[in-house]
Amino acid sequence: MSIAQSLQTLKDSLKASDRMPVLFLGHGSPMNAIEDNAYSRSWAELGRNLPRPQAVLVVSAHWMTRGTTLVNVSAMPETIHDFYGFPPELFAQQYAAPGAPEMAKEVVSILASHHAEGDESWGLDHGAWSVLKHLYPEADVPVFQLSIDMTQDLSHHLEIGRALSELRDRGVLILGSGNIVHNLRAMRHGTPYDWALEFDALFAERLGAGDVRALSDREGLGSLLSVAHPSLEHYVPALTVAGAADPKDRLLFMNETIDIASVSMRSFIYY
Ligand code: ZN
Repeated sequence: MSIAQSLQTLKDSLKASDRMPVLFLGHGSPMNAIEDNAYSRSWAELGRNLPRPQAVLVVSAHWMTRGTTLVNVSAMPETIHDFYGFPPELFAQQYAAPGAPEMAKEVVSILASHHAEGDESWGLDHGAWSVLKHLYPEADVPVFQLSIDMTQDLSHHLEIGRALSELRDRGVLILGSGNIVHNLRAMRHGTPYDWALEFDALFAERLGAGDVRALSDREGLGSLLSVAHPSLEHYVPALTVAGAADPKDRLLFMNETIDIASVSMRSFIYY
């Protein structure tokens, strides 16, 4: 099915239900924020087809904490330029969406048993705004971020997703932003590494089978996981999104490509 047909299917089925989809986007290079390319166009297309949320909760690979899960409760989250070596045009970008402090405080309560706390030190990092700029270019949908507690094992992040899934019935779009394969040390021009293709395919196959347990089993995934993710922060948001799915959802993949040989842009929607 082409992406246009897939999005039409998505649009038709969403008319019947108010429950928000859950979305994972492979964000890749920060330059996707300002480039007109296949990825940025697909995000814009998606934004035009999704039901309009009351708020977006973003779990980005670029907000990591230790021992706590922070929830940004700012009324106006600032745009964070958390990268270096990019052109001034990228540093000049602002994404001035309002926050959603009331909803964010509720998320703190929902995740109380997961050591959640409200926070005003963060804002929107590029994992969030590089895709949101295309999804909601008017910056008129309230947005808030949730951090990743890097001291927890992978199953914890599935549980966070499960706990958050009730927000889908309250107009909140849960958006995970990371990459299914992310090894920048190995990046090169040319064809994807075999291990990148293998992990990407394994992920898609297990997710399609509903076997999220396998995807959060570090030992079971073994050295393939270590080479696909020398550090796990770009992987975790995909698990949180998978955790927020329910068995009735349909699963749609998009952007099934590998960039710079070692970064999967694979994205998915449960709806
Ligand atoms: Zn990133």
